[in-house]
Amino acid sequence: MIPYGRQTIDDADIAAVVEVLKSDWLTTGPKVAEFEAGVAKYVDAKYAVAVNSGTAALHAMMAALEIGPGDEVIVPTLTFAATANSVVFQGGTPVFVDVKLETLLIDPAAVEAAITPKTRAIIAVDYAGQPCEYTRLQAIANKHGVTLVSDGCHALGAKFRGKAVGNITTMTAFSFHPVKPITTGEGGMITTNDKELADKMRTFRAHGIKTDAHQREKQGTWFYEMQSLGYNYRICDIQCALGIQQLTKLDGFTKRRQEIAALYDDRFAGSTQIIPLRKSPEVSHAYHLYVIKLRGLNRAEVYSKLREQGIGTNVHYVPVHLHPFYQQKFGTRKGRCPVAEAAYEQMLSLPVFPGMSNADVETVVETLKSIVTQQRMAA
Ligand SMILES: *Cc1c(COP(=O)(O)O)cnc(C)c1O
Repeated sequence: MIPYGRQTIDDADIAAVVEVLKSDWLTTGPKVAEFEAGVAKYVDAKYAVAVNSGTAALHAMMAALEIGPGDEVIVPTLTFAATANSVVFQGGTPVFVDVKLETLLIDPAAVEAAITPKTRAIIAVDYAGQPCEYTRLQAIANKHGVTLVSDGCHALGAKFRGKAVGNITTMTAFSFHPVKPITTGEGGMITTNDKELADKMRTFRAHGIKTDAHQREKQGTWFYEMQSLGYNYRICDIQCALGIQQLTKLDGFTKRRQEIAALYDDRFAGSTQIIPLRKSPEVSHAYHLYVIKLRGLNRAEVYSKLREQGIGTNVHYVPVHLHPFYQQKFGTRKGRCPVAEAAYEQMLSLPVFPGMSNADVETVVETLKSIVTQQRMAA
């Protein structure tokens, strides 16, 4: 079976984890700070705050912005539900906007049209690993006095006009789930250049308490105070030891993903039925996903035939405004984001991960093309 995504773990990763297991600190200790410093340096941001999932990272960003009841936050509908959920965790209202046809990235014109006096922030999602149209989005945010942040869960390693995702908007959330650019098993991080926001998120991840056990131990004190309401969103040293090792391999992982995408692009060039997404010349794409649209074909059948022949694909995503939760609680309805809704019916994410060989890519291409030909003949 060729899965749609898979982590790459080597002996150095395993040794790093074992080393922590033999040390004194399993949870928030020196490895957390080292991993944070590593990611901050990688994306050229001043601060990084590690947490235990990408979802927690998104929630921490919304809490740091003090999103609450009555506040609106604009999100693209074509994303993982957690992007919008992070707004709801804080009692805010996510406002779903459509994406652009050829890239499936948040549509800046739709963002501007959705801004109201209640809008506090925009969460731009670097869908599939491609950075959003940040020049336009930032101009809109500035004009209306709202904060632009990024859900970069797909896009660690990507760049926009030479600038790393993680240092483009006010804050960026990352995920280290196994299918993401690098993994810690489960994990997440926020990068920012704003010290006040970073401090708020550091407190938020640990019950609203400003010092952690490792710091108190070093300072020889037991005293602590809870300053605000927080959660236990701590990531542990075991996970961060893995993350530190993974980060050293990120450039190689990204390069391999880009090579695989280039192979697919080449094989699908000129096809009228298999349509890859457009890549902007302004970006270096992280290719967390390689998404195609199937034109004039039965997607469900293509999906199951690929599966029968050992090829795992996936659909990213059910537009979030169509989930029953959002329809019931926020009254969102079909028809609100027609581009995303139409794309959802046609899209398929093909396998892409660093350990995939060129032969695997050819197998996917040949199998897909033969299924497409069969369907066309049957039609
Ligand atoms: C994976 C993902 C998340 C959530 O990350 P977790 O680490 O699984 O909590 C949020 N947004 C997007 C776009 C994602 O792909």
